[in-house]
Amino acid sequence: VGSEMCIRDRGIILADQIALGIEKARLYQRVEEMSRIDSLTQLYRYHYFMERLEQEVLRARRYRTRFSLVMIDVDHFKQYNDTYGHPVGDELLKGLAKIINDNVYETDIIGRYGGEEFALIMPLVRPQEARDKAENIRRAVEKHNFYIGDKKVKLNISIGLAHFPSHARKQDILIQYADQALYQAKRQGRNQVVEYAS
Ligand code: GH3
Ligand code: MG
Ligand code: MG
Repeated sequence: VGSEMCIRDRGIILADQIALGIEKARLYQRVEEMSRIDSLTQLYRYHYFMERLEQEVLRARRYRTRFSLVMIDVDHFKQYNDTYGHPVGDELLKGLAKIINDNVYETDIIGRYGGEEFALIMPLVRPQEARDKAENIRRAVEKHNFYIGDKKVKLNISIGLAHFPSHARKQDILIQYADQALYQAKRQGRNQVVEYAS
């Protein structure tokens, strides 16, 4: 009987398979959207990072501990895209994410904050240690040789940081201060770490 399927039956089966394929693709997209992890960099995506920051603020208030918030932005990244193309730019960001990841504690929380911006929560560190760690990341990126095919390419980052609770005890103010420090780093010539100054 199976081999004597009429054309109509085959049509129905084919339609079912197409529908299933579409459904699968939709599901995959949803899983991607719901994911905490950015697929390019394997770092936390913005929304989940913000949830973690909220938790860290609550924890630090409750247990009277400290943490530092660090904002990172690639210097002149637009030029890399313009010169080498967006997909190559993406590869550079992937490499950069790995360097950041390799230069922090496992308990630090790293987010891809924007396209070429990253944010870090460093729980329990003193301001001096947070500054040192930020400087280590900056130097590691500066020293790293990125490769586009055979071509060696250099990349720099600017970093801003602010501390809980000495600078601010509120999440949005802390972000604002770390951002201001980052902006200051850019204005002072980039490729440097700047701490928020009240
Ligand atoms: P600077 O930060 O030093 O002031 O200069 P910039 O050129 O890096 O300026 P800005 O931080 O405003 O640049 C953002 C640029 O980064 C815009 C866009 O070309 C690029 N960009 C943003 N997100 C992505 C991404 O996900 N992939 C790639 N390839 N490029 C991105
Ligand atoms: Mg930027
Ligand atoms: Mg930039």
